[in-house]
Amino acid sequence: MTRVTEKLQKGDRPLLSLEITPPDRGQSIDELFHNIDSLMPMSPDFINVTYHQAYEDYEEKNGSIIRRPRRKKPGTVGICAAIKNRFAVEPVAHLICGGFDRWETEDALIDLHYLGIRNILALRGDPPPGQSLFRPKKDGYAFAADLVAQIRDMNRGVYVDALDDPVPTSFSIGVAGYPEKHVEAANGEVDMRHLKEKVDQGADYVVTQMFFSARLYKDYVARAREAGITVPIIPGIKPVTTLKQLERIPRTFFVSLPDVLVRSISEAPTAKDAFEKGTDFVADLAGELLEAGAPGLHLFTMGKGRATKAALTKIFGSHR
Ligand code: FAD
Repeated sequence: MTRVTEKLQKGDRPLLSLEITPPDRGQSIDELFHNIDSLMPMSPDFINVTYHQAYEDYEEKNGSIIRRPRRKKPGTVGICAAIKNRFAVEPVAHLICGGFDRWETEDALIDLHYLGIRNILALRGDPPPGQSLFRPKKDGYAFAADLVAQIRDMNRGVYVDALDDPVPTSFSIGVAGYPEKHVEAANGEVDMRHLKEKVDQGADYVVTQMFFSARLYKDYVARAREAGITVPIIPGIKPVTTLKQLERIPRTFFVSLPDVLVRSISEAPTAKDAFEKGTDFVADLAGELLEAGAPGLHLFTMGKGRATKAALTKIFGSHR
C-alpha cells in the first residue's frame, strides 16, 4: 500500500500518476480498463480516479414536477478498488466536499480505508451543472482545507464524534493548486494564501491544474516556496491534440493555451499531424518540467489512452 508521500520521499525516479474519469452512468467499464491496460507498460505509480458530485434535476411529468437526483459518473470507489486488484497499481481516490456532510465524509473514508486505499486527493469540487456558485451541504465544508483537516484528524484517531479507542487511519493527502490561479480567487496571492491553509491543515503534496508553459510552473513553485509552502508540487499536464480541445479546455478549466500550441494544432494539415504536434508539445513540456526539478508528472487522461500513451512514449520511451 504505497502512499504518494512515501514514493515522493524515496525519489528514486520521477513519480508518474495518471488521472482517469469514471464512465458515464450506464456505460461499460471495459473501454476504461482497456485504456489503462494500454498504459501499463509505462508503469504508472498511481492512478487517480475523479469524483463527480450528485446534483438535482427537475422534470415535469403528468403536470407534476418530479425531483431527479443525478450523478453523471458514479463509481469512483469501486473503480479504485478494481484498479488495485486488477492492475496492482495504487489508486488515488478523489474526495470532494460537494454533496457530503462530515459524517458522510467519514463513512467514505472508512470505506476507502477498509479497501486498503491510502491515497486521497482532497478537493472542494466544482459547482454542479446549472449552479454557478459552490454551495456546501449542511454540516459539510465550503473549502477543501476543512476536508483536509478532517482527514488529518482521522489519521490521528480523531473521528467526528468521540469514540472509544478509535483506530487512526493512514491516508496521504494531496490537494489541488492553480498556477494560473483558481477562477474564483481575486488574485494569485489570495489563492496562494488559501493553498497555504490547505498545507497547514495537513496536505502532504500539491497536484496542479493543467498548464501549458514550464514558466508558469516554475513561477508557481517559486511563489509557493516564498509563501512558506515546502511540500512537493506535482505538475498536471495534458496532451492537447484536436481543434475541439483548443476551444473546450480554456472554457472548462480556466487555463490559457500558448499561441505556439494553438497554431500548430489549428494549422496542422491533418488530424494525424495535429496529434503528432500536440503530443510533441506535451513531451517537450514534460522534459522541461523534469529538468526544472519537478518531482514527477500527473497526466490528465480523461479516460482516453491514445494521446497519453503517445505522449508518455515520447517522454520515457516505449517502457518506463
Ligand atoms: P479550494 O481549495 O477550497 O478553493 C476553492 C476556491 O476558494 C479558491 O478560489 C480558493 O482561493 C478559495 N478559498 C479557499 N479557502 C478560502 C477561504 N478560507 N476563504 C475564502 N476563499 C477561500 N473536481 C471534482 O469535482 N472532482 C474531481 O475529481 C476533481 N479533481 C481535480 C483534480 C485536480 C488535479 C485539480 C487541479 C482539480 C480537480 N477538480 C475536481 C476541480 C476542483 O474541484 C475545482 O477546481 C474546485 O472549483 C476547487 O477545488 P479546490 O479543492 O481547489 O478548492
